[in-house]
Amino acid sequence: MKILLASSNSHKLKELKALLKNFEIYAFHEVLTPFEIEENGTSFKQNAMIKAKAVFEALDERQKKEFIVLSDDSGVCVEALNNAPGIYSARFSPEKTDLANNALLIKKLKDLNLQESKAYYVACIAAKGDLVEFCTHGYLHGKIITSPKGENGFGYDPLFIPKNYDKTLAELKFDEKAQISHRSKALEYMRICLQTIKEK
Ligand code: IMP
Repeated sequence: MKILLASSNSHKLKELKALLKNFEIYAFHEVLTPFEIEENGTSFKQNAMIKAKAVFEALDERQKKEFIVLSDDSGVCVEALNNAPGIYSARFSPEKTDLANNALLIKKLKDLNLQESKAYYVACIAAKGDLVEFCTHGYLHGKIITSPKGENGFGYDPLFIPKNYDKTLAELKFDEKAQISHRSKALEYMRICLQTIKEK
């Protein structure tokens, strides 16, 4: 059983690969010519499954029997913004860059006269294979602040302080983030399911 990761995001690939050490893992671009997938679902689960199915359908018949495709859809939900940006986290600002997304998030909180807000990250990992189709979720609770700190991680990490921490995710080391992240939690459930399938 081979795992094909339906993502070209190098940060996500690094985190996913670190947590699935016992599996034979391939990145999207190693097996297929990358193509755009329209994420038109209304939930993390729908978008994760849309990506996993689109990549699975692009495989040939032999590959469909060999691979289970995994995809991740994730984002941050900010309480003061009615859980925005949520599924729109990657495309929150018109520029769709981490810098512009973070700037817009800070602006929206400051427009409400807030310096911070409770928030949580969500990750949904979807699996699509010849005989399997399921997904797992992981959450990381904390708060969004309005002054970025730290250089590590990606996306909203410089603005996100996990509950019971006094540092942003971007100030934590890769391994420290991996121990608590939404993606790690979703992936741990996924790893257990995949292990069971592998042993059958
Ligand atoms: P996706 O690639 O459509 O799943 O979009 C995920 C987006 O959510 C990223 O571009 C980030 O903006 C945000 N995001 C998800 N997980 C993380 C994380 O672990 N750290 C920082 N930002 C994240």
